[in-house]
Amino acid sequence: MSEPSSSNDRPEEGTRQLQAYRFALEPTHDQAQALRSHCGATRFAYNWGRRKVLANWAQRAAEASYGIPDDELTPWIDQSAYSLRKAWNAEKGTVAPWWAENSKEAYSSGIARVAKAFSNYGASKRGTRTGARMGVPARKKHSHQSFTVTTGSYGLGDGSRQVKIPRIGIVRTGESTRKLARRLRNGTARLANMTLSWRGGRWWVSFTVAVRRNDPKPARPDAVVGVDTGVKALAVLSTGEIVANPKHYQKTQALRRRLARARSRRRGPDRKHGGEPSRRWEKANAKANRLEHRVTAMRRDGLHKLTTRLTHEYGTIVVEDLNIAGMLRNRCLSKAIWSAGFSTLRHQLEYKTDWCGGRLITADRWYPSSKTCSSCKAVKAKLALGERVFRCDHCGLVLDRDVNAARNLAALVSTASCVGTVNMPAGNRVRPGSPGDGIATGRPETAVAGQPCRSNPAGHGTTHSVNGAKFSGTRRDERPKAASRPHW
Ligand SMILES: [Zn+2]
Repeated sequence: MSEPSSSNDRPEEGTRQLQAYRFALEPTHDQAQALRSHCGATRFAYNWGRRKVLANWAQRAAEASYGIPDDELTPWIDQSAYSLRKAWNAEKGTVAPWWAENSKEAYSSGIARVAKAFSNYGASKRGTRTGARMGVPARKKHSHQSFTVTTGSYGLGDGSRQVKIPRIGIVRTGESTRKLARRLRNGTARLANMTLSWRGGRWWVSFTVAVRRNDPKPARPDAVVGVDTGVKALAVLSTGEIVANPKHYQKTQALRRRLARARSRRRGPDRKHGGEPSRRWEKANAKANRLEHRVTAMRRDGLHKLTTRLTHEYGTIVVEDLNIAGMLRNRCLSKAIWSAGFSTLRHQLEYKTDWCGGRLITADRWYPSSKTCSSCKAVKAKLALGERVFRCDHCGLVLDRDVNAARNLAALVSTASCVGTVNMPAGNRVRPGSPGDGIATGRPETAVAGQPCRSNPAGHGTTHSVNGAKFSGTRRDERPKAASRPHW
């Protein structure tokens, strides 16, 4: 692991980040038609490229089965985006005589995506790609509506609510683009590409932007806050503050049922016999989809506000590493947890501490933050989920269960040898679960920084320094077998 540079080494003008700026679009009827056409063009080019590569493979396999020697087989076709695009340009007149109706960006986008899909497939087969094994790239179906523009005349329009799309022209956005426009004007941002997509019953434009960010440093760089993400509250801070769970999903449940009922009374698509849905069904379906999208947006908004507030105030944030995949399998809890969006919170904290030069520390999943007394560190053998108040048998502490857990998390920082860090300033981010990252274990005992924790006398695997402080954590391969991580 390379030594993380301290936050003082940052250039004055801030750090460069790739960031997305997304706006809802309000296209006219004709523009929406053109957007759909471009998405179709992308899909067509993707499927064309896929067919071409697979036909080549099949041809070679067939020839080989006739005993033709390897060097006399039909040569492999190059699967790079560059050569596929060349082949497309040679063939488009015959396979897609209508190609001139759409911007060439749409076809290039499809070709680039299929080339990427095959390269991912190849990497997965060779074992150089993380994640589950990949199958042969699948055909893109009609439901997939998006295309990416990487070159040409695209960007923001002259007005404050306009984007420029090649061939389609100026399209109105649902909200002002002034923040991005200001960055582009003063040179702190550069557009990398633009993706148009249909999602949640609306058209969206998403700009990938290389931004030079200059976020304020945390107001209290030495302050530590423990964040316990519970089921009842969205988050409980070690300061005692309880951030209420807005429960958008549960609150809209009645409306959701009503919309679903309205939809089911209408004639839906008949997939077996290819029957088209009725106009009324499509309207009801769009309405139901809009609700889901709205709930997602409200939840995201609440989480953004919380994580921004935390990263702007505290220098160090400690969170729990929850087994979200495991908890989602539990049906009683799953809805509430889904609603709270734990993983979103974690993810947002990760990159926002990075932006602000703060630190995010993740406690081990088996660290008993709820069962430990935050005052005398005695660990309870049992604590039912229903017990909302923590009562210590040792020192008689009576405290809200979640506040107690949050305090324990915050206390982990002072026991530096017991914690690992997920996020280090200056962009040296370590994904949780990558080999060698630090994971907190054991009880929050007072230990000297850099020395083995008393609860784990054997000591931990690695020691790395973060802004002068020593941290050590168990290496992934040294942890017990049961410590398998969820597949995020
Ligand atoms: Zn106690």
